[in-house]
Amino acid sequence: MDLKELYKEIILDHGKNPRNYGICQDFNRDAKGHNPLCGDKVHLYVKLNNHDLIDNISFEGEGCAISLASASILTDVIKGRDAKNTLLIIDDFLNLIKEKSKMKTNSLNDDQITTIMSLSGVKEFPMRVKCATMAWHTLNQALKAKS
Ligand code: ZN
Repeated sequence: MDLKELYKEIILDHGKNPRNYGICQDFNRDAKGHNPLCGDKVHLYVKLNNHDLIDNISFEGEGCAISLASASILTDVIKGRDAKNTLLIIDDFLNLIKEKSKMKTNSLNDDQITTIMSLSGVKEFPMRVKCATMAWHTLNQALKAKS
């Protein structure tokens, strides 16, 4: 299986079986994102503990397969991380989609990098970039908002 096929499989899998879907218990941060270009919507719920650790994260959303897969991948990779590290990964991802070809964050394992890289194909489709980045921008908002 070549890399393109593998990436497609990962996106299809997350699009069909989104991880962390729903409203997580005891969330204390949330934010909404909207992509009018495609009609995608996402609502992220985050439970941040006293040590700035993301104890739990979940989402609800509607829209295209890319937007759902992206939110699912995001929550999957981010759960259990601290907020500071998460913001770095978000920045890294947004740069990846814009120009770079690789993630430079060193706190991700190979599986997580492969999963995130599966979204990098949208670079070839400018109309889909917002679908892939919406959830990540939304998490950025949720973490930076004052609690
Ligand atoms: Zn979309």
